[in-house]
Amino acid sequence: MTTSKSLLSLLIASATLAGCSAKQDSATVTIDSNANVEKTVAANTSPLATDLNINNVRAHIAKLASDEFEGRGPLSAGETLTINYLKDQYQAAGLQGGVNGKFLQKVAMAKLTPDQSMVLNIAGMDFTAGVDFTARTKQLVPQIQLNDSDMVYVGYGITAPEYNWNDYDGIDVKGKTVVLLVNDPGFATQDDTLFTGNAMTYYGRWSYKYEEAARQGAKAVLVIHETAEAAYPWSVVDSSNSGAKFSLMNDNNNMDTLPILGWLSFDAAKKVFKAAGLNYLEQKKHALDKNFKAIDLNITANLTLDNAIDKAESHNVVALLPGSEQADEYIVVGAHWDHFGKKETDTGTKIYNGAVDNATGVAATLELARMMAERAKTAPLKRSLLFVNFTAEETGLIGSKMFAAGTVVPSKQIVGILNIDGMNPLDGVDYILQYGKDMSEMEQYLADAAKAQGRHVKMDPRPQNGLFFRSDHFPMAQQGVPGLLFMSLGDTDPDYITHKYHKEADDYSADWSMGGVEQDMQLILSIANKLGNNGDWPTWTSESDFKTRRQQDREQ
Ligand SMILES: [Zn+2]
Repeated sequence: MTTSKSLLSLLIASATLAGCSAKQDSATVTIDSNANVEKTVAANTSPLATDLNINNVRAHIAKLASDEFEGRGPLSAGETLTINYLKDQYQAAGLQGGVNGKFLQKVAMAKLTPDQSMVLNIAGMDFTAGVDFTARTKQLVPQIQLNDSDMVYVGYGITAPEYNWNDYDGIDVKGKTVVLLVNDPGFATQDDTLFTGNAMTYYGRWSYKYEEAARQGAKAVLVIHETAEAAYPWSVVDSSNSGAKFSLMNDNNNMDTLPILGWLSFDAAKKVFKAAGLNYLEQKKHALDKNFKAIDLNITANLTLDNAIDKAESHNVVALLPGSEQADEYIVVGAHWDHFGKKETDTGTKIYNGAVDNATGVAATLELARMMAERAKTAPLKRSLLFVNFTAEETGLIGSKMFAAGTVVPSKQIVGILNIDGMNPLDGVDYILQYGKDMSEMEQYLADAAKAQGRHVKMDPRPQNGLFFRSDHFPMAQQGVPGLLFMSLGDTDPDYITHKYHKEADDYSADWSMGGVEQDMQLILSIANKLGNNGDWPTWTSESDFKTRRQQDREQ
């Protein structure tokens, strides 16, 4: 994956809660794109589909989220059961395999496990793995060393020309160890005029920081952890970086990625700055200064990272319903099939069934595929539909990155993606959540479809969490394909995030009314139907890397 330096698009706009219930009053709405092209999107007046069978969806969820499927962990027995189930269902519904007639796309993955006996030595101080720091690599090499690596503090580690911001200006970090802050200056100040204020930009994500440091030629990055800025405690940093981690393998054995991806605890960071004769909290403030210049810390880091490597193959499931006229133009309906599998603990085996996340989404794709295949017998859509169930979303959007690479269908032939991740199994609501703001014309499709259902669009209530960058439509966006994320994830269940999300308790319940699932499936169906027949290519709204990529693809 590459991300170019101009990342204008990668911001979630500074959505304020006051702007949440945007009114959509007129039946037709004009979209003003930056190309000064006005486009009218007719309101969706299609009646509710009565051929959608919610009991089928319920049965799929109960099956996929049962203990039999072992939490659907990639590369486990649960994967085999899951992908076979999906394939059988698509086949029975009359769909074709979407990968040269086959239903499975191979996803080559590496399982990398850093040896936790490693010691990070900085300025003569020894730091303990898991307690003071974490370090891992995506490179497929058994050992990486830092030998007296010069350390540099680069503030937020952001290069953002559109915000007139360059933390790497005037400093050469080639081969060096970079120390930096998590999140972005907008979050730190809550100033809406700085980046996008409270709403996280992609510049705030640790994944961006590693990518940018790699472009600058750094050898290692240590992200300083602070709970509020990261949006999670140190225990999450430790558990997500200390154990085995999956990575997509590229032809270059990932040697183009940053050699050492690390975190530093708050306490360790304070000691490191002290050893350099600096005060961490002062330097944290200093990084907000527009004239901030990176600081050579004049201390060095030493580390030997031993790396166990296992290679393995997981699978995306891809089902095709060919269009009748523009069969080489595709609408993707996607939902990741994987969850966390099972874990052995002192108190026994824990199975992470992932019923809401994301058995609901997968079940919805199966039922939408069945009913649309049935309809296609008499009234096929002009464009083709691809139902894609991605693997290894939870471990870093790996299946969707593989799919986005374009070997199944080139991104320039994909009109848009409707990505379902965590539906609302309780009663329906009078709104639909929108992730990202002023990103693409797909948002107008969302608004129109919601309006036809008597619902309104409500902005993501937690833009600071950067969810637009954290599900399977994002790798597609990076390839220029606009999309929508359908994510409820407990929005109607106050207990969900605290007690069920990514926990053993995310289980199916026969008490679910399924009203929310049904209304969102109706909405997704209406958007797919419209795009399937209208010949439109929704464009990106604001100037962005996504938009540039799409324009290049469309001009070819
Ligand atoms: Zn999910």
